[in-house]
Order: sequence, then structure tokens, then C-alpha cells
Amino acid sequence: MEEFLKQLPGMAKEKHAENKKYFVKLKKKPPKNLDYVMQGLHDAEFKRTDCLECANCCKTTGPLFTTADTERISKYLKLKPQKFIETYLRVDEDNDHVLQQVPCVFLDSDNYCSIYHVRPKACKEFPHTDRKKFHQIDNLTLKNVAICPAAYRIVEEMKKKIAF
Ligand code: SF4
Ligand code: SF4
Repeated sequence: MEEFLKQLPGMAKEKHAENKKYFVKLKKKPPKNLDYVMQGLHDAEFKRTDCLECANCCKTTGPLFTTADTERISKYLKLKPQKFIETYLRVDEDNDHVLQQVPCVFLDSDNYCSIYHVRPKACKEFPHTDRKKFHQIDNLTLKNVAICPAAYRIVEEMKKKIAF
């Protein structure tokens, strides 16, 4: 996994133009069974990918924290929401609450998330490859394939399964 993660940004860069063109075509003509196909590809990939061997999303990028996330996590940590925000979060250029730094402060040395059961919605849903109407998140996916080995492989499989 470590070797793959080192190569991933370069591999994603090589595929970027091809993927971009592919998503333009997909957006123009999304197949009726897209959600079904994506769920199948997502499930198959995560059967063979162990996130505990990776944690690259937690190490290199952070989730945004919604108000509901902040309330739920601060309750779990027995902190006042404002204290939680001051301690762990900052406001980014889009006005969203994000982590002050990466790797995420809640990631432990064995790649476990110390707030797993109350983790942000964005963490739970990452890399969003089983999301309904997947063609609508093309820009996000183009970024995620450079971070997430699973997302990279899912998009590669998707291009074979739904060819234009
Ligand atoms: S979601 Fe992707 S980047 Fe995050 S740990 Fe799993 S395989 Fe790695
Ligand atoms: S909150 Fe947990 S799942 Fe989310 S980035 Fe941090 S360690 Fe990873």
C-alpha cells in the first residue's frame, strides 16, 4: 500500500485529462443504472481495500465539519462546541470549519480514528463513490483519485464498465 500511495499522485496526474473527458461524456449521457453500477463497483473495491492500511484521506486532507458534526463530536469529547472549534478547527476560504492541521488529530498511530463512531459525515461518506448521481461530483472525484487508492481504482473500473 505504501508504494502505491507514493505513486498515486503521479498516476492520477497521468489520467487527469482522460478522466476529465470521461466525466464530460458521463454528465451528458449518464446511464439509467449508474447508481446501481457505482454501488457494485464501490462494494467490490472496499471488499479488497483495507482503509486501516491506508488512512491517506485522514493524513493528507481533512473533512469539513458541519454544525451537526461539531455538536455530536464535542458532546462525545465532553467539550462545549465553541471550545471544540477553538481547539481543533479553523475557518477556510469557503467559510467552512475544517481541521487546523493534517494528519487529522483524531487519527492514531495504528490508523484508527479515535472518534470513529461520531466522525464527521464527510469522513463517513469519503470517497463518495457510492453516492447517488455520481456524475454530479466530477470535480471532487477528479481530486479524490489522487488521494484515495480505492477511488482511483473505482474510476478505472467504471471507465471499463460504462464505456463511451
Ligand atoms: S477512503 Fe480511500 S484514502 Fe481513505 S483510507 Fe480508505 S482507501 Fe485510503
Ligand atoms: S475524524 Fe477520523 S475519519 Fe475523519 S479525518 Fe479524522 S481520523 Fe480520519
